[in-house]
Amino acid sequence: MPTDRIAADLEALLPVALAHLKAWVDTNSWTLNRGGVDKVARLTAAAFEPMGFSAESVPSTDPNHGDHLVLTRPGTGPTSVMFVSHLDTVFSPEEELRNNFRWQPEGDRIHGPGTHDIKGGTALAWLTLEGLRRHDPALFEAITWRFCLNSSEEVLSADFGDVCRDRVDAGTRAALVFEAEGKRDGMRRLVVSRKGRATWRIAVAGRGAHAGVKPTHGANALTQLGRVMDRIAGFSDPSLDLTFNVGLARGGSGLNRVPESAEAEGEFRAFTTDAYEFGKRRLLELEGPGDVTSPIDGYACRISGTLTSEMSPWPCNAGTDELFGVWAAAAEGIGQRIEPESRGGLSDGNQLWDSVPTLDGLGPSGDNDHCSERSADGTKLPEYADRSSFVPKARLNIEALRRLLGAGQAR
Ligand SMILES: [Zn+2]
Repeated sequence: MPTDRIAADLEALLPVALAHLKAWVDTNSWTLNRGGVDKVARLTAAAFEPMGFSAESVPSTDPNHGDHLVLTRPGTGPTSVMFVSHLDTVFSPEEELRNNFRWQPEGDRIHGPGTHDIKGGTALAWLTLEGLRRHDPALFEAITWRFCLNSSEEVLSADFGDVCRDRVDAGTRAALVFEAEGKRDGMRRLVVSRKGRATWRIAVAGRGAHAGVKPTHGANALTQLGRVMDRIAGFSDPSLDLTFNVGLARGGSGLNRVPESAEAEGEFRAFTTDAYEFGKRRLLELEGPGDVTSPIDGYACRISGTLTSEMSPWPCNAGTDELFGVWAAAAEGIGQRIEPESRGGLSDGNQLWDSVPTLDGLGPSGDNDHCSERSADGTKLPEYADRSSFVPKARLNIEALRRLLGAGQAR
């Protein structure tokens, strides 16, 4: 049966995919380790080169970050598909050393920096394409494959969205993001929407005064900031799935002084564009005179609010739903079960869904991403990917790609 033959072949290819993965994991590529990120890019390009991919480095707009990587294999027909992953991880070389966090297979789990987020996803993309090339060479040759890898996804680099969008054309059928899948009761979960996130800063300008001599001359910026932070905490609205977090606060300069300035920073997140815009309005409405004033002359603290970064939500939408439908039908065809998931964390899918139908969660299963610590009693475990998830997931991706692009479809 062809299904079994493809799965058996993928099983035979898995050691090669995992050898690539190990080389990428052995190379630290913390977002701020420019040299490491660029080295992972070179290793990745070398892994895809035998399949006919050529590599292009696209400098990041931030000089502290490595280059983005675009791998392209031109097809004979007008249709193209974009794969999306990233090169960086959240772990500094010092942290990896401190926690002895490195490539470490243990039973079915492969621990290591990036095994789950997202180098394991890049390995799964490799396995998917190599499997497709062997089993449906005509389809593989017909499609233009573009694989875009972000050098700095973990800090939400906004310029990578442009790198991808510049390479979307009329023939682009899908953007497939290889972040890890979710799982629930043995069910694979593919990501069909993600929260948007904005970060903000609130600054309060008060009026300083000697705390013992002229306290009433002061307008206490920290007291004002306290009130504002409390109001911001109240902006969270479960009915809208809108969450605000006050993450940092600072102010004042001495115990004998009425603080002249103070500021706080935080973020908010929402799944829908409406809730996101509502959150944005609530925050910006704080701008203006405060209610902490000097008793002497009514001098009021002044509040100003700014958004320091924005990544709008990836809401549920028809293009994504259609792609999910193809994957669901493919899953059923090969005896797997999948379901859609809306996820709180962001990915490059947030930047792409409104340019091209986008589906995410195409990587392996695993857990504990962004964690490097291990405790003796096993209550803390570092990031890992499940080895046994690679072959069935690649099998599913191949089946879905053949349905999306194959028989009866214009290529
Ligand atoms: Zn990631």
